[in-house]
Amino acid sequence: MPASSTQRVLVLVFIAVAATWFQGSTAAAEPAATSPPPNIVVVFADDLGYADVGCFGAKGYATPNIDRLAAEGIRFTDFYVPQAVCSASRTALLTGCYPNRVGILGALGPASKNGIAEGESTIAEVLKRRGYATAIYGKWHLGHHDKFLPTRHGFDQYFGLPYSNDMWPEHPTNKSFPDLPLIEGEKIIATNPDQRNLTTWYADRAVGFIKENKDRPFFLYLAHSMPHVPLHVSAQGAGRTSRGLFGDVIEEIDGSVGRILAELEAQGLDRKTLVIFTSDNGPWLSYGNHAGSAGPFREGKGTSFEGGIREPFAARWPGTIPAGSVCREPAMTIDLLPTFAELAGADRSGDRPIDGRTITPLLLAQPNAKSPHESFSFYWGRELQAIRSGRWKLHFPHKYRSLAGPPGADGKPAPYQERAIGLSLYDLESDPGEKSNLAAEHPEEVERLSRLADAAREDLGDSASNRQGKNVRPAGQL
Ligand code: MG
Repeated sequence: MPASSTQRVLVLVFIAVAATWFQGSTAAAEPAATSPPPNIVVVFADDLGYADVGCFGAKGYATPNIDRLAAEGIRFTDFYVPQAVCSASRTALLTGCYPNRVGILGALGPASKNGIAEGESTIAEVLKRRGYATAIYGKWHLGHHDKFLPTRHGFDQYFGLPYSNDMWPEHPTNKSFPDLPLIEGEKIIATNPDQRNLTTWYADRAVGFIKENKDRPFFLYLAHSMPHVPLHVSAQGAGRTSRGLFGDVIEEIDGSVGRILAELEAQGLDRKTLVIFTSDNGPWLSYGNHAGSAGPFREGKGTSFEGGIREPFAARWPGTIPAGSVCREPAMTIDLLPTFAELAGADRSGDRPIDGRTITPLLLAQPNAKSPHESFSFYWGRELQAIRSGRWKLHFPHKYRSLAGPPGADGKPAPYQERAIGLSLYDLESDPGEKSNLAAEHPEEVERLSRLADAAREDLGDSASNRQGKNVRPAGQL
């Protein structure tokens, strides 16, 4: 290369580095943003358990495309959501906050009058400031009234369901649900749509969005309604697996990941795009053969045991994430917003405080990278039920739901019974199934985690000890 072009390249690199440094100057110690900003794709499944994809142990069907994310990128073994239920979990992903911080708990339904508050910043809003095109195809669940819709919270495009796909007149046990709207932008374009088409419709739009935006950075949030019950699969996807309808549904979701990877490749965007796959909460065990599996973990959706809150997580970004990496440090959905903002060089300086921290060093498999959190809090509603710090997890006395007998089948749920757990300390490294209570053997860990929990109670509140959080913010109200 002639000296003059080398000099020109050096000057350009210097400008890029300086611009990045300037933009990220509030966090100068953190790794620099990549330039140009990467495309970001998040595929978020609903009620898909830890062991429901091949690279996390699924049996009876195959997920070659999700497995490919892990094989060509990284797999996190200890990735969490803060609450094992749809709206709370999605709130954490999109705002980078514990759901208790921003007031969205449980699962919002057609009668809900609240949603995401105007003053919170979603991933889409943060990335939009950096010039990203943004879209969500699938389930929103942060409020279904106009002011709460994705188009009012940073997304250029929306197509999907405003809440869960079982909140409709065909619910197996609750016949009081109104018609289920299918929304495009802010308009209801159909009610009670044929759910066999949902996964395909979402994937079609995801592929179209990549094509349309191949020349600018984009954030694509593909929030599948499946495998939340009622399970539905397209005619082409039906009857393909030995696991039955559940396996068919997962293979179709996996196929949507394959279509995204193929389109990225076709557009030459492979090395410019971070693709992540994870889920909002563990399996809804009362549905039996229509529910997934939490693998080695205890219980499932709706509990603060690992089966409810630990999710499969795979991320691929060729040339940036070393292939075949595994991260065993704990991280949570709340960490994705600040991580994306950092990678994109997006400015968050005017935003409200959040709970997530950047996990860029973990995501990029940097040697000896550590979790940025001393502890993770697990609430059910407003009750602090458990806390994890390092290898230890402490449950505080609380009630939880557990199957009373055999699970349901073929779309009909079986009843849960209420059980109770006392103060219990588990070593998640030697006892991932949370079976052996070591509280008596390790009083120092009980004390240490209890202190961390007290700080969480002061900050976020706790209904079990009648405490109001000092730093909680109200949800948006109609
Ligand atoms: Mg869910």
